[in-house]
Amino acid sequence: MKIAVIGGGTAGYIAASHISKHFPQFDLYHIYDSNIPTIGVGEGTTPYFLEWLERITNLSYAELEKRCHVTRKFGISFENWGVEHEKFFHHFYPIGEQYSYHVSAREIVNLLQEYVCATQIDCQVTDVKSDGISVNIAFANHTNLEVDLAIDARGFPKTLDENYVKLSWIPTNAALIRQIPGANDNIIELKIGSDLLKYQSATRSIARPHGWIFTIPLTNRTSYGYIYNRNINSVSEIEADFDEFFDSEAITYAGQPKHLNFPNFTVRNCFDGALFKIGNSASFLEPLEATAIGCILKQVEAIGYWLLPAFAKLETREKLAEKDLKVFNQYFINYVYKMSLFVGWHYAMGSRFHTKFWEFAKANFYQEIENLENKKLLEEFYEVLESGSKSPHPIENFREFSLTVAKTEKNILSVLIEGIPKLFGQWTKPSFTEVGYGIGYFDHK
Ligand SMILES: Cc1cc2nc3c(=O)[nH]c(=O)nc-3n(C[C@H](O)[C@H](O)[C@H](O)COP(=O)(O)OP(=O)(O)OC[C@H]3O[C@@H](n4cnc5c(N)ncnc54)[C@H](O)[C@@H]3O)c2cc1C
Repeated sequence: MKIAVIGGGTAGYIAASHISKHFPQFDLYHIYDSNIPTIGVGEGTTPYFLEWLERITNLSYAELEKRCHVTRKFGISFENWGVEHEKFFHHFYPIGEQYSYHVSAREIVNLLQEYVCATQIDCQVTDVKSDGISVNIAFANHTNLEVDLAIDARGFPKTLDENYVKLSWIPTNAALIRQIPGANDNIIELKIGSDLLKYQSATRSIARPHGWIFTIPLTNRTSYGYIYNRNINSVSEIEADFDEFFDSEAITYAGQPKHLNFPNFTVRNCFDGALFKIGNSASFLEPLEATAIGCILKQVEAIGYWLLPAFAKLETREKLAEKDLKVFNQYFINYVYKMSLFVGWHYAMGSRFHTKFWEFAKANFYQEIENLENKKLLEEFYEVLESGSKSPHPIENFREFSLTVAKTEKNILSVLIEGIPKLFGQWTKPSFTEVGYGIGYFDHK
């Protein structure tokens, strides 16, 4: 059977290296157009990425540091968010033990290239047609390729038609990226009760008057991204506030910034039986909780656990059952909805800034989630919030909270092993507790 991965960005290389490693029996084609640049961002990850990367490359931390400039990420430090605390931390659990990486978007693709075993085709794809059993890929040089399965990782769709849903409760749609060269000493200090915690290192997420700024520290540079809404604020307003932030951090900047617009959306059906959309071509939501690479891994694992083993047993390619496809697509759309509700909720209490952006962001969340098609999911979301508020206050009772988290995590693991997922998207109850108390939602609702 023939499989094509279309796209040479993070999503395309994750898929191509995963299939090369775990399914070498398939005939793999890796297609991209080197004249179409990758988006070049996506450097914060979640812990599962580490496990996945180790299985693919088996490289040590020291080697990854040398190749991809990785630093450890223990979670996200939120500054100036909500109404209660100047700072709070959203950890990976168990606290202080679990971490992920910040990784260079360019270098991770260069590294994964070495683990792809495929026929490489560097050519523009002009059309992709699927009938649910096979996919015909047309190229700009007037040739064609027919495959049994195509994984479409071509980045953002050109237009969002009726096959896509907008995640309108996310209030941002643009980014201004600045990079500062040189090693970064990014120790984050957090005083919680009598505990002084130090993290080396974490992503910082700093609320600003017109949005928020992320910092991603690598060993050779730090990326800063101002995430905002271009319908509310102009680029010059963002630049001015970015300068003010850099002044406050004693940072001198003389580089070339990068401007990006992004849609917050999900495709209704990511898979039709032969064509599977992954990465930014399937869904996107702003990078507040760095969810995109985790979502790509989820998609690639679904291909690996469910699809390819089934394909491997087939004598001839058959159409997959409609019922199975429906369940599969429903699972993925709900997964993205869940991630987007969690991310949108971070804005629910606003920030210390009472500006046009923050007034909009707060009101927009409550107003727009009511438009969610899946009402049951919204109920589930409120139930998860309710249960998150019942755990000890993580900021006032850090030690007790850590102990409860350790216990909860154990329970969640046993629940997972028993096959009943108790998570909301990729989030556990402690995440809701930390963010809920962090922004002041649980204290004020
Ligand atoms: C500001 C910002 C910050 C982000 N931060 C994070 C983060 O911290 N963590 C995270 O997980 N994610 C983050 N993301 C998401 C990130 O973009 C994705 O994780 C990741 O880059 C996936 O991109 P992709 O591979 O789907 O698409 P792209 O990088 O756009 O790659 C598309 C590929 O398809 C090829 N292609 C396109 N059209 C054609 C064609 N017609 N023919 C042939 N080839 C074609 C291109 O050549 C390219 O190789 C962020 C996104 C933004 C906007």
